[in-house]
Amino acid sequence: MTVTVQAIPMLADNYSWLLRESTSGKVGIVDPAEAAPAIAVLEAAGLGLDVIFLTHHHPDHVGGAEELRARYGARIVGNRADAHRLPRLDVPVHEGALVEFGVANARVIEVPGHTLGHIAYYFADGELLFPGDTMFSMGCGRLFEGTAAQMFSSFAKFAELPDETLLCCGHEYTAANAKFALSIEPDNTALQTRFDEVATLRADGLATLPVSLGTERATNPFIRAATAEEFGERRKAKDTF
Ligand SMILES: [Zn+2]
Repeated sequence: MTVTVQAIPMLADNYSWLLRESTSGKVGIVDPAEAAPAIAVLEAAGLGLDVIFLTHHHPDHVGGAEELRARYGARIVGNRADAHRLPRLDVPVHEGALVEFGVANARVIEVPGHTLGHIAYYFADGELLFPGDTMFSMGCGRLFEGTAAQMFSSFAKFAELPDETLLCCGHEYTAANAKFALSIEPDNTALQTRFDEVATLRADGLATLPVSLGTERATNPFIRAATAEEFGERRKAKDTF
């Protein structure tokens, strides 16, 4: 395993993710909402920045991209279908594309729902998944542009990935999601355990992410929805929870 990851908190509850590929020394970042917190971490570690991976066009995911590119000469990767509303793309990508990152690579997975042009990145080396605002720990993103059926299909695309896959989500929404999840499945013991673990982590000011896909399969009411209809009902209920 040569790719490692580190969360960089940004704005109120965003996470940007710093990636390092140890063989080549390549450095990447996923969804820099702001430049300053990323620069602080890079400077402290004496690192440059080679690649900026964008999952979708929302300002709290792309806000720092241009400044980081200008400062480090990093290349910006994003969905070519959303090029008109993303920072200028150096590497426009689409479903199934492999983005080289040192000796590793990221596979692009199109996951419409939160936005229509939303993509996720999967690094088989490191078993890392960056779902942006598609999937959260015990939750899913709001349906700003897509339908529940689209989001359900997007979730299904993660089904082939191993349980060990680490989810590096775009926000620290876990505690609120855990409350909603328990309202759906009050008798789920895995969920009760995760609820307590999350409460302890948050009380200590610690991140609840990354989390394994295996844990999510046991606790996330949206992964556990059997049909697109059930998924949609849960998403609607969460909107007003
Ligand atoms: Zn978003």
